[in-house]
Amino acid sequence: MNLNNLPDARKALENIKPYVPGKPIEEVERELGIKNAIKMASNENPLGPSPKAVEAVQKAITKLNLYPDGASHYLRQAIGARYQLDVGQVIVGNGSDEIIKLLAETFLNPDDEAVMAKPSFSEYDFAVTLMGGKCIFVDCVDFRHDLDGMLQAITPKTKMVFICNPNNPTGTIVTKKEIEKFMAKVPKQVVVVFDEAYYEYVDHPDYISGLEYVRAGYENVIVLRTFSKIYGLAGLRVGYGIAAPELISLINKAREPFNVNLLGQIGAQAALADTEFVEISREKNAAGKNTLYKYFSEMGFKYWPTQTNFIWVRINTDCRPVFQRLLREGVIIRTGDIFGYPDFIRVTVGTEEQNERFIQALGKVLKELTV
Ligand SMILES: *Cc1c(COP(=O)(O)O)cnc(C)c1O
Repeated sequence: MNLNNLPDARKALENIKPYVPGKPIEEVERELGIKNAIKMASNENPLGPSPKAVEAVQKAITKLNLYPDGASHYLRQAIGARYQLDVGQVIVGNGSDEIIKLLAETFLNPDDEAVMAKPSFSEYDFAVTLMGGKCIFVDCVDFRHDLDGMLQAITPKTKMVFICNPNNPTGTIVTKKEIEKFMAKVPKQVVVVFDEAYYEYVDHPDYISGLEYVRAGYENVIVLRTFSKIYGLAGLRVGYGIAAPELISLINKAREPFNVNLLGQIGAQAALADTEFVEISREKNAAGKNTLYKYFSEMGFKYWPTQTNFIWVRINTDCRPVFQRLLREGVIIRTGDIFGYPDFIRVTVGTEEQNERFIQALGKVLKELTV
């Protein structure tokens, strides 16, 4: 149906659910007339951007009259050098979100299928649905991907499988053993997408990156990583994919010629070299995780040990009023209802000070709601 004098929109759009972003700090402050709100909702790095990236971006700002390098050559070369890969095995995108969309644009005809976990990252659903593809959701088991179930969900129509490892919103991983079993059985004509947006935070002996399969020559595997999380550059929008040159070339056909902006390319390159910042971020996150774990345990809330910078926790009460009241305390978190779990929240690990503020605010809010 169309009430405007516009042509009919594509049928696929009827199935698009609007993305629910983390509430921006400015919006919360404006709507509630408060100051000093903190955002623990979108898994951004609470320490800010990599200082080396800031410096590089500041220097490059006078070049904004120029188009960026359409091939993002130097950034791809730097990523390749970091992981001992050929530059032809790397694609960069306007966030890894763009690469997810490019994958759908590259492979999906209407009614083609893509298998994904539930709950998981909503961008897979969006990209697939937008192309008229069909999402096949496989429920997580104890909030971990059920790779056996995902394998069984593959049909002759399946073009791709998304493995979010670690998973967003749950923070859990699938193990090396589980992946090995999956990879031994997955058909070669199905693209396996390992979304490793939180890779740099992982500290688990049973983890394996999809990169091992790219290195081993699998042509149907792509690994997605991002500069938005540990590198602290979510606002610059840079992510990357690593795969066989044949797969990269194919995806490149659907890519916009100047998809990654000039400051993004330069900032990401500097951030990649800023290993000190990544190390500090990892350490502070580990400490912050423990602070929050301890609090959740004391409160009797079950949480899922995380391999990321956020925690998925069951607060045993409707998350929506909790969310609203936390906003008034200037603390923005994610509610579980958008993932289908109304008594859960997802909270990003903040700085020591932010974690403390979150703990105080949540305690206060829960007390108010129970009287
Ligand atoms: C944040 C995130 C991304 C990265 O998004 P960008 O577009 O690179 O900012 C990708 N996948 C998951 C699971 C994420 O949480």
